[in-house]
This record gives sequence, structure tokens and C-alpha cells, in this order.
Amino acid sequence: MLTKAPKGTKDVIPDESYKWQYIENMIRKICDSYGYKEIRTPVFEHTELFERGMGDTTDVVQKEMYTFEDKGGRSITLRPEGTASAVRSYLENSLYAAPQPTKMYYIISCYRYEKPQAGRLREFHQFGVEAFGSEKPSIDAEIISMAMTLLNKLGVKGLELNINSIGCPKCRKEYNSKLKEYLKQYLDELCETCNSRYERNPLRILDCRNSRCKEIGKNTPVLLESLCDDCKAHFDSLKNYLDSMNIKYNVDPYIVRGLDYYTRTVFEFVSKDIGAQGTVCGGGRYDGLIEELGGSPTPGIGFGMGIERLMLTLEGQGIEIPRPDPVKLFIANIGEKAEIKAQSLVYELRQQDISAEKDHMGKSLKAQMKYADKLGAQYTMVLGEDEINNNKAVLKNMKTGETIEVDLEYLGNILKKI
Ligand code: ATP
Ligand code: MG
Repeated sequence: MLTKAPKGTKDVIPDESYKWQYIENMIRKICDSYGYKEIRTPVFEHTELFERGMGDTTDVVQKEMYTFEDKGGRSITLRPEGTASAVRSYLENSLYAAPQPTKMYYIISCYRYEKPQAGRLREFHQFGVEAFGSEKPSIDAEIISMAMTLLNKLGVKGLELNINSIGCPKCRKEYNSKLKEYLKQYLDELCETCNSRYERNPLRILDCRNSRCKEIGKNTPVLLESLCDDCKAHFDSLKNYLDSMNIKYNVDPYIVRGLDYYTRTVFEFVSKDIGAQGTVCGGGRYDGLIEELGGSPTPGIGFGMGIERLMLTLEGQGIEIPRPDPVKLFIANIGEKAEIKAQSLVYELRQQDISAEKDHMGKSLKAQMKYADKLGAQYTMVLGEDEINNNKAVLKNMKTGETIEVDLEYLGNILKKI
């Protein structure tokens, strides 16, 4: 137990963290260029926020939440996603009072009690973006293009973008009766959960993971064909914007997405390289959510991209993330005096933002050089009595074998130049 992390969680060990940092840095750059600013919210929230926000007929709320009572008797839930918290913060901090839209992003851990498998964890990470305040389809296209930009910059190929519109409550009402009419004959075959969804939220049945429910879902009437004029125009306009940016998509009238708050646009980026859990990114419009959570009617749209699934896709496609530069200089030492000098030299170099290392294990010179090699040090230098007395030492370029004698006083300047 003590040396085993809980099921469904994964450490990022020091040798692997550069991959996360690379992706996170890229995300931050892209968000910057799109004018989205980072929001940071707590890992836990009042349970009610997610129940109301995600909808109590969703899988997440019904089965997957990490909910507990805290010592003060409050019901607390570890965030299973980021949107509800972003909306809560938007309202609590009156972000709506600033010129709209409010555009934000986050890179967060999320918690869902699921059956762990490849691409499905209990603690996973999401890059999410949200834009509040605009109902224009141009912002839908902007959001979709952001996900696309990240995938392109990472060199991911062949991800399919599927889009759909699931309309507004007005078109949904009409459609729900059609759907129920059709599903009636299958009530005996639908799973228990879907039976309870039938009255309250029949659309949710199309997102069930049960294989029989999935099969039945494949032949139902689709919402896309019952859209009202406004929703239809919105969807057509979104397609125009995507075309104008040369972003390829498929219209898939069967996507409904797993959360109840979606209206109109829904979309997914699906990878064929990572098996069953192929959805790398999912998002959509949620024009009813902010009002549901106590704000005045305000449109919104966003997506969540699973970082672990994104990484699996990169691996599946053989895309290597560039390793960071190895340490610039390793100072090996012979003797106690030299060891102390090495300590002060690496300190000075680090003050100048130059990466430098020395031994902390009392290694022999030979072992120190081996260690420097292991670290991939670009340069090495050996300090002994003579070097200290003359204040001069020899820098060796580990790649070329070239050596130069340097004044220890100017070590930093020289390292900056070469
Ligand atoms: P799925 O249908 O695969 O369960 P979802 O519809 O529950 O996904 P969202 O709630 O839309 O997913 O979350 C957005 C993204 O977060 C997903 O597309 C996926 O990449 C990632 N994600 C969701 N759940 C997990 C999980 N348990 N482990 C790893 N990544 C996840
Ligand atoms: Mg899920």
C-alpha cells in the first residue's frame, strides 16, 4: 500500500516531466495568441455545483464523482471537469461586468471514479478553454480552431474533427417526443440507467456506453434534422467559418456529448491511434449553463482536452517531444579544497542562469566523469590544487573533445558565449 499509488492514478516522474512541460508551454503560448487568460480554481467545490452544472442524468454525476463529507459536514466533490468551476468563478467575481466575451483557459487535474484502462484514469488532466458572453458562431469556430492549432503544432496527424448541433431547448422539446416515440419499442432492452433517462432526458441515451443501448442509439431520428431556423443558421455559419480557416470536419449527427449542459454546437476530436478511448477533445456550446448556475442568461462555449490521451496519440504516431537542453557544465573536483571551490563556482554560474552541476556523493574523479556523461553535460571541467592556485582550468566540450583554458573569473561570460 505505502509504495503503491491509488488505482487509476499515475505519477509523472522527473525524467518524463519535460513532456508535460513542453505541451503545457505550447498550450500557454497558443492561449496567449488567442487572447485567453488562465483561470485557477480550487480542486474541490460544493457537490451541488457539479450536480447542477453537469446535470444529474449524466454518467459523471450518477456514477463517477469523488464526493465526501468534510469535517464541517459539507458535501464536497473533487472536480470532475473544469467548466462548472469556471462558471462559478465568472459569477462570483463578476467577470461579466468586463467587456465581453470573457475568454479563459486552464490546465487542471480532474477526478472521476471510472474503471481504469488505457486512456481512462481516475485522476487525469485536462486542458480546457471557455468563452462566456457571445452566442456568435464565430467564437465556436475560434474555440475549435484553438484545439486544431495545438494539434497541428504538436505534429499530430489524422485526428478527425466531428461536429454536430443539438439545438436549443425549443428544438429539443419537439425532438424529444420524436425520440421517445422511437425508443418506446426498445424500453425492455435499454439498460436500467437509460430507462430512468427515458422520461427525464432521452437524448442522454445516445451517449450510453452499454453496447445494446449504443446499437439502438445508432438508428434513432437525429436532432440535426429537427433544428429550428435559428439553430440551423447558427450551425451553417459555423461551418462557413471553419471552411474559411480551412479546417476539415465531418458532420456527425449522432454526437451528443456526455454532459447535459450542451446546446447547439457539439464537437469532438477523435484519434484512431489510441484504441477504444479515442476522444482526445470534446466540447460544445452551453447557452443554458450560466443561468442554471444562478447568473443571468449568458451564452458560453468551451472544450476539454485530455492530456493523457493527447500524449497517447503522440506516442501512437511516433512523435517525439524534444528533450530540454542538458546541463551546460559539470565541475569535477579532486580534493576537499577543490570541492568547496566547485560549490561556489556552480553557485555563481546559477546566479547567471547557467545550468551547472557538481558531485554531492563523494565520488572518485572517474565516477564523477561518468556521472557527467550520464547527465549529458555539454562541458566538463576538472578542479584540483593547480587549477585553484592558478585560477585557471580547462573546459572540455564533451561532444567534440575540444578543450580551452579559461580564467575561472570569466567562466560565466565564456560559457554564455560558447
Ligand atoms: P469519454 O466518453 O471518453 O468518457 P467524456 O465525454 O466523459 O469522455 P469529457 O467530459 O468531455 O469526456 O472530457 C473531455 C476530455 O477529457 C475527453 O475527451 C478525454 O480526452 C478526457 N477524459 C475524460 N475522462 C477521462 C478519464 N477518465 N481519463 C482520461 N481522460 C479523460
Ligand atoms: Mg466519460
